[in-house]
Amino acid sequence: MKNILILGAGTAGTIMANKLARALPSAQWRITVVDRDNDHAYQPGFLFVPFHGYEPADLIRSRRKTLDARATFREALIERIEPDKNRVHLKGGDVLPYDFLIIATGTQPTPSQNEGMLGDEWHKSVGEFYTLEGCTKLQHQLDNFKGGRLVVNIAEMPIKCPVAPLEFAFLAESYFRAKGLRDKVEIDYVTPLPSAFTKPKAAELLGDFLDKRRIKLEADFSLARVEQAEKKIVSWDEREIPYDLLVTVPTNMGDPVIGASGIGDEFNYVPTDKHTLLSSVAPNIFAIGDATDLPSSKAGSVAHFQADVLIENVLSVIAGRAPEAKFDGHANCFIESGDGKALLIDFSYDVEPLPGTYPLPLIGPMSLLKETRLNHLGKLMFKWVYWNMLLPARPMPVGHQFSMTGKAIG
Ligand SMILES: Cc1cc2nc3c(=O)[nH]c(=O)nc-3n(C[C@H](O)[C@H](O)[C@H](O)COP(=O)(O)OP(=O)(O)OC[C@H]3O[C@@H](n4cnc5c(N)ncnc54)[C@H](O)[C@@H]3O)c2cc1C
Repeated sequence: MKNILILGAGTAGTIMANKLARALPSAQWRITVVDRDNDHAYQPGFLFVPFHGYEPADLIRSRRKTLDARATFREALIERIEPDKNRVHLKGGDVLPYDFLIIATGTQPTPSQNEGMLGDEWHKSVGEFYTLEGCTKLQHQLDNFKGGRLVVNIAEMPIKCPVAPLEFAFLAESYFRAKGLRDKVEIDYVTPLPSAFTKPKAAELLGDFLDKRRIKLEADFSLARVEQAEKKIVSWDEREIPYDLLVTVPTNMGDPVIGASGIGDEFNYVPTDKHTLLSSVAPNIFAIGDATDLPSSKAGSVAHFQADVLIENVLSVIAGRAPEAKFDGHANCFIESGDGKALLIDFSYDVEPLPGTYPLPLIGPMSLLKETRLNHLGKLMFKWVYWNMLLPARPMPVGHQFSMTGKAIG
């Protein structure tokens, strides 16, 4: 019996386990998936909880139930990987051997990395929506916010779902307008990026959106510290921005197990080949999703496209062949813009988001880089797709490869 061990039963680990369970004969292969708990959270839903769009309980399902019965689920904290001994240590002393390892441990907001972030005001006048606990508390923080300066801040890049803070700012603007409080709330969007987003065309459009909604953009702001007593954030070049409510995305980092195993970069991300998804740690270790150091977006859509590539490459390597399938950096995501509308962007390592229609030329039905009601409905529909199509690894109407079909050039 040979062992494939998957670390992390989030988006990427679950898809991979389900694909492998179908592809490999269970008499010869044992597939084991490890995660710290049994609660799989639909993270894109965190964005809506502060605005009462979802309640936290709407977003959780049993990890065990999302996994194919042929995969074994182990609920335990992973403490250390020993690549030279092909084994993984769990909290409590158990050791799991592997023939092939897939690292899918994701990335997490790590507020301890930001000076002053974790003071007495954490989850009070300083909020966040990147964890289930954070978005739940932020619901109450927003309910109690009757006016003043709301500052939405990204501490440092890269972060997972890089559009989520922008979406939060748009939704907050529309939420306060609907509550009749908009004139009492000033909203600042404070980012370390030189503009509203990482990619030029989308950044220009999203910058206009901020302007039209009277959300002030403060660019090139790298967070040095939070001064909770003074209610202000300070950049490394000593710019100061006061707040009444700070909604922050703290520094995102890969799991400490990557650092403890001595295999990661300074952010605990796993060095990974950007096309084959083979790690540079060892020839029998692959990495997928947010855990990698790749220049692709850290997003569920990316984990899904990568899984289509990785399954081919794992099966090739198992069969003694070279991994030939190539991930092209394909990512797409809906961007909520408030008032029941959203945009959609679709891009890759080489091509930035362009206008057009998706997935079909002219027909769409989704519009790229354009605010529509249908895109918003697509974003809401994605929750169903996530649980019923994406995680079970059912065939999807869109392929993993980026395509110029439907894109308008020039
Ligand atoms: C607010 C928000 C909004 C988002 N919106 C979108 C969106 O609209 N579209 C989109 O495509 N993506 C979105 N994302 C991003 C998306 O959720 C992630 O990119 C995706 O979940 C990544 O999958 P992953 O498997 O790499 O990591 P995860 O799904 O985070 O899974 C990692 C798993 O590893 C486990 N793990 C890690 N370390 C250990 C350890 N030491 N021991 C045991 N278990 C461990 C964790 O418990 C976790 O279950 C959003 C994320 C957030 C936070």
